[in-house]
Parts: sequence; structure tokens; C-alpha cells
Amino acid sequence: MPAFAAGAANEQAPAAGGSGPVSLPPERVPRLPRAPPWECLPRDHIGRGVDHFCLTGGQAVNLCIPKMRDTWNGERHPALDASRVVAHHRVTPPSAHEAAMTRTVYLNGDYIPETEAKVSIFDRGFVMGDAIYEVTAVLDGKLIDFPGHMARLKRSLGEFSIRNPLDDDAYLAAHRKLLELNGITDGMVYLQISRGNGGDRDFVFPPEDTPPTVVMFTWNKPGMADNPLTQTGIRVITLPDIRWKRRDIKSVMLAYPSMAKMQAKAAGRDDAWLVEDGFVTEGTSNNAYIVANGTIVTRALSHDILHGITRAAVLRFADEAQMKVEERNFTVAEAQAADEAFITSSSMFVMPVVQIDDAEIGTGKPGPVAARLREIYLEESRKSAI
Ligand code: PMP
Repeated sequence: MPAFAAGAANEQAPAAGGSGPVSLPPERVPRLPRAPPWECLPRDHIGRGVDHFCLTGGQAVNLCIPKMRDTWNGERHPALDASRVVAHHRVTPPSAHEAAMTRTVYLNGDYIPETEAKVSIFDRGFVMGDAIYEVTAVLDGKLIDFPGHMARLKRSLGEFSIRNPLDDDAYLAAHRKLLELNGITDGMVYLQISRGNGGDRDFVFPPEDTPPTVVMFTWNKPGMADNPLTQTGIRVITLPDIRWKRRDIKSVMLAYPSMAKMQAKAAGRDDAWLVEDGFVTEGTSNNAYIVANGTIVTRALSHDILHGITRAAVLRFADEAQMKVEERNFTVAEAQAADEAFITSSSMFVMPVVQIDDAEIGTGKPGPVAARLREIYLEESRKSAI
């Protein structure tokens, strides 16, 4: 709601003028519900809380133009003749989808509505997957393990030889400002840095002084730490790990993980664990663990897996709680025979895995080690959040 209201409050009523009636190409006219939640108000109600204009033409309300788009190819569309424009006043809160569509995002130093954030088609992130990213969780309005994400960001940038355009304080300030502008208490902040706009598609890097493109946006996830999946656990399939050999770099080249996730969904499962040379590497977007003979086992750090920020924290907390940890490879068969399995990531924290392919893990229910680690992780991370 805050972003929505803030956006609306900043907008002015469209200026009078323009020519007579015109018909808008149907594909350019966003359709909104005719009935509530929209309500037609006299034009002088335009202001705070009013987010859409409607062309009535004396008829039922059916042509609506989102307020952000009251221009046409950069100029005011003639259909927005003030005499024919009324305001639409929102009478119910925006749905999650609508709220997401009105986020304020960050683009190269500017805080703007997401509908106005534009990046060149020649941006290296778009045509070459030449970009790195971070996702930081937010609980109680505070960033979880922000220094860890900053350290990995700089490592990824270094491995890609992309200039780091901002310092840590500027990233922190931008994250916080986005949380404030979007009214986020629980959710996530996405940060992406590409090599910038190369001016054309070219395998050769653009000149060194090309400014990297910096994009940040938020997701609002109220109650994120109370994910009901924690009670049931998730079920995974296994798939070959055919990603490139530098999975330690958090790059936006995510086509295969995304395809693997879709394959899992098609099989009625939640996710996929990726397997290379008979050993589990990690999940599509998380690190993978088993618990066998009282020991937590997870693959050691290398170029084969992403160095999860949550992984680092969870292993540290496990150690502090005197739980036994082994960082080594494990097979699918070993995982299927384990007492417990779980994953970690910034958005899922610690999440039990109760089935791998056709095998139920342990009792087929979330196990005590994963539950305890989740508890400790959330407690400690909240304490150190900034
Ligand atoms: N592995 C992969 C492949 C991932 O994409 C992610 C999440 N981005 C993780 C592991 C977990 O990393 P983190 O705990 O830093 O979110």
C-alpha cells in the first residue's frame, strides 16, 4: 500500500487540452475490473489515493489507463482530454500482484516506479547474461547477513572483472531506502549489476569506462519466516547438473536452474537436486544437506556450488551448538538412506526435504536437526540483522 499511495500522491491530474475522441488500440488499453474495487469519482477528487484515470465518454467505465502511463509515446495522449477524464479511486487494498506492479525500484541511482525503469536492449546483462546478483532477506524491516552478501557480491564482480560501481555504504543505504519506500517488513531485496550497455551486441567487452547497470528491487513477503512448507518439508527430484563450471559466481545465467525447477514442478515436486558424477552438488537455488549418523553432511566449497551465505551461517551455528559437520560429497543413494535432508537459502532459510525421487527420507516428515537449525538460524540472524 505505501508504494501505491506514494506513487498516487505524487501524480497530478492530467492537464486540460487535447483533441476530440480517439479510439485506443485495444492492446494498449489495460483493462481493469468494471465493478469495485474501482469507483468513479468526480475529477476534483484526483489526488492522494487516486491511482487511475478513466475515459468515460459518458459510458460505463471500461477504458482505464494506469496513472503511470498517462502519456502516449512520451506525449500526452489526446484521449486524455480533461473533460472526459475522471479519477478511479481504489476502495480496496491492492492485491499482491497489483502491489508488486507498483513497486519503487532502483536503477542507476534513481528511485522510480518499476513501470518507468528502462534498461537498454544492448545491456550486457540482457544479451550476454553478463551480470551478477545478490538476494538479501529482510525480517522485521532489517537486512539478514548483509555483510556476507556484500562480500560475495564483490567476489562475483571480481571474478567477472566488472567494476564495482558503489561502496558498501551506498548499497546499504539503497537497500534501506527501497525497504522504506516500499513499506517492506518481511521480504527480499534483489540487486543486480551488469557490465552495462555495450552499445551493440559484441563478445568483446565494452570500454572499461562503461558504467555498470545497477538494478535493485524488493519483494514483499509478509510472514516469510513462517513458511507453512516448513511443517511438511519439500520433495525433490534429481537431475543432471549441466550448468557451467563456475557455479561459485552468482551470475544471472539461470536458464538451466529455471528449466530444472520447471521439470520438478511438472513431476509434482517442489525442486530439483542437481547431480554430477554421481554426487549431489546443490539444489536449483539452494545448498543441499543430509543428516546421517548424527552428522550434518554438505558438499565442500569449490567452483561446483554457490557459496551460500545461509550455508556459511548455518554451518557456523551448527558448530557452535556442537553439532557434528562434515563437508564432503554425498551420493543420491546416501541421501535417500539418510535420517534427514534439508536445504538452505536466503529466502527459504533452513527447509526440510522429505522425499528425493521415489525415496522418503527418514520418517518422511521434517526431522529434528533441520528444525533446530532453522530455529537457531532465525534467532541468530534476527539478532545480527541491520
Ligand atoms: N545455490 C544456488 C545455486 C543458489 O542459487 C542459491 C541462492 N541464490 C544458493 C545456493 C543459496 O545461497 P544463499 O544462502 O546465499 O541464498
